[in-house]
Amino acid sequence: MDMPVVIPAGSLWVDRFPAYIAGEWTSLKTEFQVTSPSGQLPALVTDCGAHEATRAVEASVAAFDSWRKVTPNDRSKLLRAWFDLIVKNKDEIGATITREMGKPINEAKGEALYAAAYVEWYAEEAKRIFGETFMGGTANKRQYALRQPVGPVYAITPWNFPAAMATRKAAPALAAGCTVILKPAEQSPLTALLLAKYWEEAGGPAGTFQVLPASDPVPVSKVMFDDRRVRKLTFTGSTEVGKLLAQQSTRTLKRVSLELGGHAPFLIFEDADIEAAVREVMASKFRNAGQTCVCTNRIYVHASIADRFAEKLAAATSKLVVGDPRKPATEIGPLVDKQGLDKVVQHVEDAVRKGARVLCGGKAGEGTYFQPTVLTGVTASMRIMQEETFGPVAPVTTFTTEAEAIRMANDTPFGLAAYIWTRDLSRSHRVSEALEYGIVGVNDGAPSSAQAPFGGVKDSGMGREGGPWGLQEFLDIKYVSVNVAAAA
Ligand code: NAP
Repeated sequence: MDMPVVIPAGSLWVDRFPAYIAGEWTSLKTEFQVTSPSGQLPALVTDCGAHEATRAVEASVAAFDSWRKVTPNDRSKLLRAWFDLIVKNKDEIGATITREMGKPINEAKGEALYAAAYVEWYAEEAKRIFGETFMGGTANKRQYALRQPVGPVYAITPWNFPAAMATRKAAPALAAGCTVILKPAEQSPLTALLLAKYWEEAGGPAGTFQVLPASDPVPVSKVMFDDRRVRKLTFTGSTEVGKLLAQQSTRTLKRVSLELGGHAPFLIFEDADIEAAVREVMASKFRNAGQTCVCTNRIYVHASIADRFAEKLAAATSKLVVGDPRKPATEIGPLVDKQGLDKVVQHVEDAVRKGARVLCGGKAGEGTYFQPTVLTGVTASMRIMQEETFGPVAPVTTFTTEAEAIRMANDTPFGLAAYIWTRDLSRSHRVSEALEYGIVGVNDGAPSSAQAPFGGVKDSGMGREGGPWGLQEFLDIKYVSVNVAAAA
């Protein structure tokens, strides 16, 4: 069905974007509109369905047959060339991220470099796919374990990191010798298509990396889940959708990695350097206007310093520059869409109704903006302390003992990132070990990096992205046993 959208004469890569299938830029009459939360001109994007998905699977399977045989050194060179192009074009990538989902431009350029860092890391890591030999139980046998690429991979990404979520999956998969079909979020397909353009420019062979934008994720995904030749699902998004897709993957028993929602606690102990703690909370809470899976969502402060901390946090929060995400000075842009805004409004209204106090902000602005907000007097019964808010709201509550802080932090189905601030070395180890989370930042509100294992436990998912761990997600182990005959 053609969308009834009127846009000035289409210019490729400006207001019209094709899909990238089997090494060809494919434009369909069926398109969908990508609108910017900051009011920039919308773009029209080719809308893929089952037919395009089937074509992509055939191309992926055919390309896998040759890509897996390309030497790790040559795969590494291609990834390195891709990295160079991403870095060279970081401004274009940044502007595209800002355009499609409203991330402030400086942060968006930072995301382009963060995305590139995964490509660089896996360009290097491609050369380090090692196996093991081991002593068998019988004298006449020689035995070893090989690591081989899993096969064609289906990747699904969310809108909040349009570049980094794509490279965090595609780079290790390509390094391992897998081929990748990427379905980006409906709100943010433009950046993913740019990345495919640079992969093509770098010399990436047809069918190794394909991007299929879609307004409805179900028809494309059904083809992938039904086809046993697609061997792996790698997904970043909400817990609800992740669980559904994990179930659907069982039809053809694919390997599954899930990077899902978070509900990060930040514990600030009585020995904290309050200024530094405020700085790290700000870095963790307000990045991307609070729309990251590792954003602090609950702040627990020792009762003896809670008032001073909240006052300083509110002072710093009030100074954040809210505005047009295209302006370099902007620190907080609009939320991605009306649905996202509504959830933030509901969380704040619910908290205030149940007795929370607004120290600063607390209101929606024009469009999808929400004022950076600090709440105190929050309690466990409020929605904001139970669910991921995905907005610029910092709720503060208190604790009196270390055991109580740990219990409150762990009292959630989520387990992605948690943070603590303390100057007590023993406590930093004790609490890190007791927190049921995949990532712990000690005096560090921004621990993520390409070298590190990123991922969660419990309802926050399974598997890890980044570092050597991220590569293993795309490798199968094959055990070979050789029976060595005695000399004649
Ligand atoms: P979402 O609604 O789960 O969507 C994520 C992706 O899944 C999108 O590409 C979406 O496509 C697709 N999708 C939705 N329903 C589907 C279905 N039935 N079949 C196949 N694909 C489907 O999540 P979101 O709102 O975009 O992203 C925010 C969430 O991602 C938050 O919970 C956040 O915490 C999480 N996240 C986690 C990490 C991490 O590393 N753990 C990182 C970033 C974000 P459409 O766009 O077409 O609906």
